[in-house]
Amino acid sequence: MNLVFLGPPGAGKGTIAKVAKEALGVPHISTGDLFRANIKNETELGKRVKEILASGGLVPDEITIKMVENRLSESDCEKGYILDGFPRTIPQAEALSKMSNVEGVINFVLSEEEIIKRLSGRRMCPSTGRTYHILFNPPKVEGIDDETGEPLIQRDDDKPEAIRHRLELYNEATAPLIDYYKAKDVVLDLICTNDPKETEDNFFALIKDRK
Ligand code: AMP
Repeated sequence: MNLVFLGPPGAGKGTIAKVAKEALGVPHISTGDLFRANIKNETELGKRVKEILASGGLVPDEITIKMVENRLSESDCEKGYILDGFPRTIPQAEALSKMSNVEGVINFVLSEEEIIKRLSGRRMCPSTGRTYHILFNPPKVEGIDDETGEPLIQRDDDKPEAIRHRLELYNEATAPLIDYYKAKDVVLDLICTNDPKETEDNFFALIKDRK
């Protein structure tokens, strides 16, 4: 099944993707994770996008589309995929339509106030990428990763200035994709609550008939 997860930053796309990929047996492809891995490994691509990610801006379409095209051509995508964080612009959606047939677009629905609360409380283990939330999913010891014992960090793009920028970009560049995909009749609205299990159940109920 070819799925796109569409929604504002902090909506919980990555969290749902982790359970969905196991249940559906398809890879979870997060363009944000791909960029962060390139930055960590100091690749050429990583060097080009490092500043853009830190400011909360969007990587140019050309670079992003090429990276996704390469990833979708790998053999594990033959049975389908979950694309998380791509497409984020209309040109990206058009490019994707030439590469693959999108069967479902999960539209993550939650208020802007909720998004800000979620993003500003997010913390991450720098080496494993494991995420926590200071209110909703705190580590056992404040500020410390449960597994590695490392101090947790806040992503540069989860800081207030970058959050505002990311939300503006979402509203301008990405939200129009909801109508774009509605016209293709593939949008499924996922109501996101503060209870991850409830959101997970809502997700599986949505895709039940499409598996
Ligand atoms: P995410 O983890 O999905 O919030 O993505 C983190 C950052 O990676 C974004 O703020 C952008 O700078 C960059 N990024 C991820 N996906 C895309 C995309 N489809 N187009 C442009 N930039 C992207």
